[in-house]
Amino acid sequence: MISVRTALDHLLDLVSPLAVEHVPLAEAFGRVLAKDVAARREQPPFAASTMDGYAVNKAEVELHAMFKVIGESAAGHRFDGRVGPGQAVRIFTGAPVPDGASFVVIQEDVDRKGNLITILDQPGGDNIRPAGGDFKIGDIIAAPKRLSSADIALLASMNVPQVPVRRKPDIALISTGDELVMPGETPGPGQIIASNTFGLKALLEDCGASVRILPIARDQKPALEAAFNFAKGADLVVTIGGASVGDHDLVAQVAQDLGMEQSFYKVAMRPGKPLMGGRMGTAAMIGLPGNPVSAMVCGHVFLKPVVERMLGLPDGTTFKTAPLREPLSKNGPREHYMRAVLTPDGIAACENQDSALLSVLAEANVLLLRPPHDPARDTGATVTYLTL
Ligand code: AMP
Ligand code: MG
Repeated sequence: MISVRTALDHLLDLVSPLAVEHVPLAEAFGRVLAKDVAARREQPPFAASTMDGYAVNKAEVELHAMFKVIGESAAGHRFDGRVGPGQAVRIFTGAPVPDGASFVVIQEDVDRKGNLITILDQPGGDNIRPAGGDFKIGDIIAAPKRLSSADIALLASMNVPQVPVRRKPDIALISTGDELVMPGETPGPGQIIASNTFGLKALLEDCGASVRILPIARDQKPALEAAFNFAKGADLVVTIGGASVGDHDLVAQVAQDLGMEQSFYKVAMRPGKPLMGGRMGTAAMIGLPGNPVSAMVCGHVFLKPVVERMLGLPDGTTFKTAPLREPLSKNGPREHYMRAVLTPDGIAACENQDSALLSVLAEANVLLLRPPHDPARDTGATVTYLTL
């Protein structure tokens, strides 16, 4: 069996960054910027006042100095004249600082009588935001980058109405099993609700993919063939379940009959051993184990980096370390991704690691990583984890 790292490398080899498309700025949030974008203008485009007050020449600013108010500069309405000696221009926040002025005395610091003002308090700073203080023409937002709300505001300010982003990966999710029904349906005797597809859809959409949940495929070849047919056009086809070697586990067989070139099958990990990966025409195909927690853990460990690669992003998986809050017994021969709870006091593995228990996954906030054959560990020992 291959290691998690080797399996992930095989999966990453199956995909490459998708094409670039241009979307309107208002639809670009959360998308991945595919090319550097340069500012088309300078911001602010003129020296602007940061306060309401009076624009004057800095050299004349001192306590009790008097000025004659000769006009007004408001946001969107520049004062066209020049501020000469002993003169001031009434100015408002965001308005252009007039020629000849180099200081804004805030209105709280002056006394005004008619068109005469007197400085009453020793003024502090100049209250002027210089031209280009935010960004200059040609300043860039560098790709690749998942666009945040702040990036969207910055792009708008840079006057970029269309944004080059990676096409969203189209992912088809296929649940397999005679025992499965959709949430909201009434399960017959011996049936359960398909949960993995919904959990994985959420996980993958969070990564930036566009996800289709296909109808559940029964454990018969024609049903699976039909499901693969529905998945046509997807960049990535993910099957769930039917990946072991039981009599009803048909995924590998049907996929191979349909031309899947398998790159590996089975990974030395817990949970998630019966993972498979390969290429099916233009799509990548990943077969996940059916156990709900196995499928979700594989989603975090394998699918997330695969989606990131399709989006042109570096692998965002970050491993961190924390001290154990409770001891751990020794690990077996496979890498173990244990559901665990991280608190400010350290990390503790959840008691029951049965790979069918979603309630334990929902309770966990990290996956604690155990290398193969890791010996028993005492409280306080440093361990590695992955944030969920
Ligand atoms: P399998 O790999 O098909 O043998 O499935 C392993 C276990 O996972 C079985 O208990 C299945 O009932 C369960 N299972 C498979 N697919 C799903 C799914 N989509 N949602 C919830 N449980 C599933
Ligand atoms: Mg099954």
